[in-house]
Amino acid sequence: MSSWDYDLIIIGGGPAGLTAGIYAGRARLCAILLEKLIHGGQMMTTDLVENYPGFPEGITGFDLSDRMRKQAERFKLLIKDAEVLEIIPGNPVHTVVTADRRVTTPAIIIASGAKYKRLGVPGEDKLTGHGVSFCATCDGALYRGHEIAMVGGGDNALTEVLFLERFAKKIHLIHRRDQFRAAKYLQERILEMDKVQVHWNTVVTECLGQAELDGLGLRNVKTQEVTTLPVTGAFIAIGMDPNTAFLGDLLPQDEWGFLVTDPAMGTPTPGIFAAGDVRSKWERQISTAVGDGTVAAIAVERYLETLKNG
Ligand SMILES: Cc1cc2nc3c(=O)[nH]c(=O)nc-3n(C[C@H](O)[C@H](O)[C@H](O)COP(=O)(O)OP(=O)(O)OC[C@H]3O[C@@H](n4cnc5c(N)ncnc54)[C@H](O)[C@@H]3O)c2cc1C
Repeated sequence: MSSWDYDLIIIGGGPAGLTAGIYAGRARLCAILLEKLIHGGQMMTTDLVENYPGFPEGITGFDLSDRMRKQAERFKLLIKDAEVLEIIPGNPVHTVVTADRRVTTPAIIIASGAKYKRLGVPGEDKLTGHGVSFCATCDGALYRGHEIAMVGGGDNALTEVLFLERFAKKIHLIHRRDQFRAAKYLQERILEMDKVQVHWNTVVTECLGQAELDGLGLRNVKTQEVTTLPVTGAFIAIGMDPNTAFLGDLLPQDEWGFLVTDPAMGTPTPGIFAAGDVRSKWERQISTAVGDGTVAAIAVERYLETLKNG
């Protein structure tokens, strides 16, 4: 008999956590997945996913989440609604604390994801998925021939402009300062593009439109001039926040707070792994989250073998 409650506890029910659950289930591990809000994670806020392989016509975020969950349950993954409040590390048995339970395990996969930072202006929530987007890689192709806006001034915003340039008729780059934070070579490339018009010292005050975005309210922070920019797409790239508050300073993070792992998704604490958007990495997509979840679950399997063999 094991001296712990579960072989593996997965924190977060997005694509990374659910994929880890499928692998853990197939490996016959006694695993549980804890999700604090809604199974599917960020996929549930995505109308249509067109870049996840295997669905040539695209698939709704809801359906993709549902399929992943059913697949995990088919392999007997236990899925429970619970928010993890704390991890108390041990050697080799860790304790995971929720509001009403403390459960023990030698292996944890943190797949708690991340959130796009929002502008916090009127209309933004209502029009997300209807012209307002946080991911050019995901939605850029929908704006072929459109006049669109990108909000931000860091590496991510400017890299996304490079990607969007092949689709859009014109791109308005809206930045609240009078210079970009992005790498110099990116700035040079962007500033020499005919399609790109930079609006310096400018903030978005409102996303306009009833069912679909049809414009942005802008304010110049130097002159206070208020204008309306007619665009049918607005991409917001002002950063992401990882969901790591419950970890305190348990694990090393990069300068933006994302968890640093080795290539097998391991953290410096034996038995604790991280997968998906919560991890410090280059690209955050469903496919990369699924890949991380796969690697993490296989790494857990091997880790448990080493514990068993002493
Ligand atoms: C609007 C939008 C559109 C997108 N479109 C696409 C697209 O078309 N194609 C694509 O590939 N990618 C897209 N993405 C990105 C993609 O959804 C993410 O990269 C992916 O979902 C990350 O998966 P994850 O499992 O790492 O994290 P998440 O999906 O963020 O899931 C993490 C889960 O962990 C839970 N959690 C957090 N903290 C705790 C805790 N303490 N206890 C328990 N549970 C916790 C959260 O509630 C959440 O459900 C989109 C994202 C958004 C927001």
